[in-house]
Amino acid sequence: MKDHVARFTTTTNYRIALVRCSQTAQLIGNEQHKLTNKPLSYFSDGMVAALLLATQLKGNGVLSYEFDSDGPFDNYRCDATPLGYIRAMIPSSTFDKISTWDNKSPLIGKGNLYIGKKINQTKKPYQSVIKLVSENLTLNTIYYLKISEQINGIIHLCTMVKNNKVIHSDGFLVEELPGTTDEDRTRMENQINSIKEPGILFQNQDEDDVIIKRLLGNLTYNHIKDFDINFACPCTEKRFSQNLALISRNELNSLTDESDEIITECDFCKKVYQFKLKDILQFKNNLN
Ligand SMILES: [Zn+2]
Repeated sequence: MKDHVARFTTTTNYRIALVRCSQTAQLIGNEQHKLTNKPLSYFSDGMVAALLLATQLKGNGVLSYEFDSDGPFDNYRCDATPLGYIRAMIPSSTFDKISTWDNKSPLIGKGNLYIGKKINQTKKPYQSVIKLVSENLTLNTIYYLKISEQINGIIHLCTMVKNNKVIHSDGFLVEELPGTTDEDRTRMENQINSIKEPGILFQNQDEDDVIIKRLLGNLTYNHIKDFDINFACPCTEKRFSQNLALISRNELNSLTDESDEIITECDFCKKVYQFKLKDILQFKNNLN
């Protein structure tokens, strides 16, 4: 099964999104960022959350799912689009802290969850902030939907990791649309509540139609659309040189090595960009 996002609606005014992203979670979390065990599981859950929330964006745009905390896992960001493009990262300082984690204290401590929405053509990105209520990203994301979006919705992030491998990374979002009757709401709530352990839905990695039938029981649904999930990082040499040109001369000096070069790395895709100090200074002069 290729990684994908699937969308459905019910005849009772609910919208459902399913995310199946095991291979992409393994690629970004383990291969690119060298994470294993619990940190890999949290990293992957963040990706599922970003992809699910991105399905709410109207038109082309990017949703950013970001948190900081006072635990070793102190920084995380994932960008996803409604078309299934995704990238995610932890800074190298976070990787160092995670690597020396004692396996006992909370990995994600107290902190904040930031959900950013950037819709193309509109200049100002929108961001909402909530306090982390748990180490469990499912609970934080449900809390976000309730508090910030005032959406009556259920989200579940279901990643299973064994050692250094993502066994599966999936999730669903069930969202109530305007016009739902009390009777339909009760039916949906009873149906969802009858699933005691949502992780079990994905355990055997069944096809979407099997999972959606288990999720919705007897409710009638329409399958709207699927998008493949693909890793994509829009970083470019030009963008990096523009950012360098904006920092102070002193700071540039501190970044420059013996051979008068500045070496930078993209936190997301780990691509390395190399610049001559004189070229950046020239670029800087042209800006002024
Ligand atoms: Zn990149």
